[in-house]
Amino acid sequence: MIPVAFDYQKAKTVDEAIAALSNGNSKILAGGHSLLPAMKLRMSQPSKLVDISSISALKGIKEEDGEIVIGAATTHADIASEKLIKNKLSIFAEGASMIGDVQVRNHGTIGGSLAHADPAGDWPALVLAVDATIEAQGKNGKRRIKATEFFTGLFSTALQENEIIIAIRVPIPPEGTKATYQKFSQPASRFAIVGCAVVRFPDGKTNIAFTGISDNAFRADNAEAALSAVIFLSDHYASAEYRKHLAKVYLKKALQAVV
Ligand SMILES: Cc1cc2nc3c(=O)[nH]c(=O)nc-3n(C[C@H](O)[C@H](O)[C@H](O)COP(=O)(O)OP(=O)(O)OC[C@H]3O[C@@H](n4cnc5c(N)ncnc54)[C@H](O)[C@@H]3O)c2cc1C
Repeated sequence: MIPVAFDYQKAKTVDEAIAALSNGNSKILAGGHSLLPAMKLRMSQPSKLVDISSISALKGIKEEDGEIVIGAATTHADIASEKLIKNKLSIFAEGASMIGDVQVRNHGTIGGSLAHADPAGDWPALVLAVDATIEAQGKNGKRRIKATEFFTGLFSTALQENEIIIAIRVPIPPEGTKATYQKFSQPASRFAIVGCAVVRFPDGKTNIAFTGISDNAFRADNAEAALSAVIFLSDHYASAEYRKHLAKVYLKKALQAVV
């Protein structure tokens, strides 16, 4: 449970962090709640950690051009308690408040969670359901990636090497939109065995996203068809059969809450 030796650099700006990343086998350190356990198990062995937790440009939540913009290093706790989120994007407050325990919520960040792309993470389903865009910056500048194109497999994303997530952008849902996040949690960690996020817009358009049941979170536009095509995970927490059953139950619960 001791990581291999590594260097540490606290970056003051995004540019400084990007420059530090191009220097060998370096990794971003945000809240450390996924990376440090992986390093202790020696599943991850970076030669250097570039700490982004003090970069103020990566923190905070604001409204801009019809979008809610959340800095990548904003913690789960800050998102859960922010007035703007509660008023205009309540599914994010609901989802963030269900993550882990107080310590995890106070340190873990939305950007770290998305970059880590844990198959049982909550943010992937949440950003998919609200049609979010992930804004990333690398040595070639900034680019925006649709959430629907971001998760590419188990712990895999569309981020390129040395790219940093800088913000998450969400179009403010129109008045009358209903949304909910329903989760069957692993009792110790509260990671999702099945998590289902549903957003129902006033015109009846309904976005459905799942996490916990497959290699990566996904949007189920045609939920029944998508569910029948999924290869369900099976582990010591829940069998594939049980996950399949829970996916249906939690989709039903989520739909009942918004329809
Ligand atoms: C006991 C426990 C319970 C938990 N329960 C839950 C739960 O119920 N639901 C849930 O969703 N999660 C849960 N988590 C995970 C938690 O939410 C983590 O905080 C989160 O997954 C990672 O965020 P972080 O800021 O800690 O990232 P870190 O651990 O610092 O980094 C994770 C990975 O992302 C990279 N990274 C970090 N920030 C960026 C960035 N801005 N751009 C590019 N790459 C970046 C790092 O290099 C690393 O590879 C739990 C964790 C623990 C320890």
